[in-house]
Amino acid sequence: MANLKLLDLPVLPLRGATLFPGMVLHFDVGRPRSLAALEACMETQQKIFLVAQREEEIEDPSPEQLCPVGTVATVRQVMNLPGENVRVLVEGECRGSIATVTGTEKFLEAEILRHKDRVPRSNESKALVRTAQDLFEEFARSSQRVSPDAVEGLRTMEKPGEIADLLAANLVQKWQERQELLEELDPVRRLEKICALLIRETDLADTEKEIQSRLRKQVERNQKDYYLREQIRAIQTELGENEEAEDQSGYRKRMEETPLSEEAKAKCEKEIDRMSRIAPGSPEYIVSETYVEWILDLPWGKETEDSLDLVKAREVLDREHYGLDKVKERIIEYLAVLRMKKNMKGPILCFVGPPGVGKTSIVKAIAEAVNRKFIRMSLGGVRDEAEIRGHRKTYIGSMPGRLITGMKQAGSMNPVFLFDEIDKMASDFRGDPASAMLEVLDAEQNNAFRDHYLEIAFDLSKVMFITTANSVESIPEPLLDRMEIIEVPSYTEEEKLQILRRHLLPKQLEAHGLAADALRVEEPVLKRMIEDYTREAGVRTLERTAAKCCRKTAVWLLESGETQLQLTQERLHEFLGAARYTREALEKEPRVGVVNGLAWTSVGGETLEVECLPMPGKGNLKLTGQLGDVMKESAEAAFSWVRSHSGELGLEEDFYTKTDLHIHLPEGAVPKDGPSAGVTMTTALVSALTGRKVRQDVAMTGEMTLRGRVLPIGGLKEKTLAAYRAGVKVLVIPRENHKDLEEIPAYVLDHFQVVEAETIDQVLRTALE
Ligand code: ADP
Repeated sequence: MANLKLLDLPVLPLRGATLFPGMVLHFDVGRPRSLAALEACMETQQKIFLVAQREEEIEDPSPEQLCPVGTVATVRQVMNLPGENVRVLVEGECRGSIATVTGTEKFLEAEILRHKDRVPRSNESKALVRTAQDLFEEFARSSQRVSPDAVEGLRTMEKPGEIADLLAANLVQKWQERQELLEELDPVRRLEKICALLIRETDLADTEKEIQSRLRKQVERNQKDYYLREQIRAIQTELGENEEAEDQSGYRKRMEETPLSEEAKAKCEKEIDRMSRIAPGSPEYIVSETYVEWILDLPWGKETEDSLDLVKAREVLDREHYGLDKVKERIIEYLAVLRMKKNMKGPILCFVGPPGVGKTSIVKAIAEAVNRKFIRMSLGGVRDEAEIRGHRKTYIGSMPGRLITGMKQAGSMNPVFLFDEIDKMASDFRGDPASAMLEVLDAEQNNAFRDHYLEIAFDLSKVMFITTANSVESIPEPLLDRMEIIEVPSYTEEEKLQILRRHLLPKQLEAHGLAADALRVEEPVLKRMIEDYTREAGVRTLERTAAKCCRKTAVWLLESGETQLQLTQERLHEFLGAARYTREALEKEPRVGVVNGLAWTSVGGETLEVECLPMPGKGNLKLTGQLGDVMKESAEAAFSWVRSHSGELGLEEDFYTKTDLHIHLPEGAVPKDGPSAGVTMTTALVSALTGRKVRQDVAMTGEMTLRGRVLPIGGLKEKTLAAYRAGVKVLVIPRENHKDLEEIPAYVLDHFQVVEAETIDQVLRTALE
């Protein structure tokens, strides 16, 4: 570094600017002290020392607040600006720094030490110069902001310091970085810094270029898409296919009017957008259209107002149904609790009972009583989860499941939703419908039910779910846990009579367009209708029978010109044909090895014959008639009891070594299980082995222990009614079921003698001749 002799110069502080030697700079001067320095300089040698102040905000910096290195410059031009301001053009000469301050009065004046670059001669510095020139050329190519002339100009320069200053002045923007380069007095090191900077800048420029070209491509593609779409639209208009635009705006309008969830809104938007891009009428278009319609058709935000007036509810229940007092009472209690809690969230009711006892119609009456829409979905035979939850939209022709379909049909978010025959659901490889049902019936989860087709969450939490079943046993356990069981029992003949007279007949007359008094029937004829033409726990066949009578009556009235028909016994036969069932269905003569049992099935009580036949053999016990495990075991227990009592029964002690026994329960297609045929099978065995005849007007039920004790059974009412229907004279029941007799109407009990047995001996004494 060659230091030249000291010069006494006015000092002008710069704010955020740096001037490199050999470069020119424009700037405005306004501060009074700076103006004074400029004036002094113009009066003398026109040279001035420019140096950046460390902090731009300072108005009047002291020498310490200036950067250590500045530039000695010649003022080339001065121009007065409006006001006090002056614009100057300066040319840098060389680096300099303050040696001693010589004056501070009007402006800062100092002796300046000038630094001139030494000229290095080493090969290394030459190589560096060439590298810098190459890097600059590369940078020029990448950035495309530098003219080829500039590149050529740089090629003619040799001094590393000058090259560095030129590049620094043109490439470096931030003044701190410029200042740093100015303070670098060694020209080689300065050029090295510049080279590093060039590499960085070239990289940056390359990246920039990449980004730009990517952006350009994207813009081009968007534009292309846009043009193509416009073209399609133009073609569609030409072809007269433009109604779709109306469709879409129609959907958009409906979307605005419907309080959709955010998720549903987004899905709809997407599909409507898709529709605008595909040809209307194409399969894809229809898929989107159907989807949007499904969403918009759901009852978003629509609710019916609940009425929880118990008096009215009782009225509705009584109007529609005869009897069922216990059931009605439970419903009223349920509604009362809901009313207290105010949020309609209660346990899920499950009405259990044989077919035709009015489970469905009572739920319908509940819906009416609380002023809600009513939707019924039968789960009988549903074996596929998709039936409940729908198929994914990707399948052709897919649809939402039955639940969502039901909600659309209901048209409100809070209907009464009845799942009929929840015990008849099956499950197979296509997924378990019960698990879907669990989710639906779970108050914690059903506010965001997801149908596979819709793929959006739908709120089912306001729905009042009610279920029905024929028997509790086949309801999946986890579902059962969530439900409150209300048993709807079978009807007695007397109840059926009342239902027929008060409800079924009037309803059918009306349904057939007949006046209320068009058909006159006396009670004995109604009884015949019930006893001779139906044998059921409920009143479904009875209702059909009544309907048939009404049809025949309508024909008769038209043909005869009369306005009223008196339905006599004979006419009933004429209308309905010969009696289908007779009271005397039981064999009257006592028989060997045949005993009347009583069974309780999902369709009510039934009489059930047990047959037993001995044959030469080795003591094997054969059981047929679709018996369940429990029933098989009670047959074995019966056999053991007989063996251990062979003496008392007058059998040879080793009878079983010579005899095989076959026990059969006819109607083999109906599966049978349960322990309650224990006494019946024992009686049949004893009769078959001893040859003693069994009274056929006796029917029995009861479980038996190995020691011959008779245990209580379930479903006594149903079984008793079945015995009554079958014309039984003596009914044998377990002693411990005595309390259940209360539920049975007196006229039924009057019909036969009830034997309450504690031991099998009593049973045998009653049944065997
Ligand atoms: P379930 O659902 O138990 O199989 P339904 O509700 O379908 O039975 O009943 C069959 C028919 O019998 C319906 O028309 C119903 O109105 C009528 N019904 C059943 N029980 C009664 C009753 N207690 N009073 C009046 N009608 C009844």
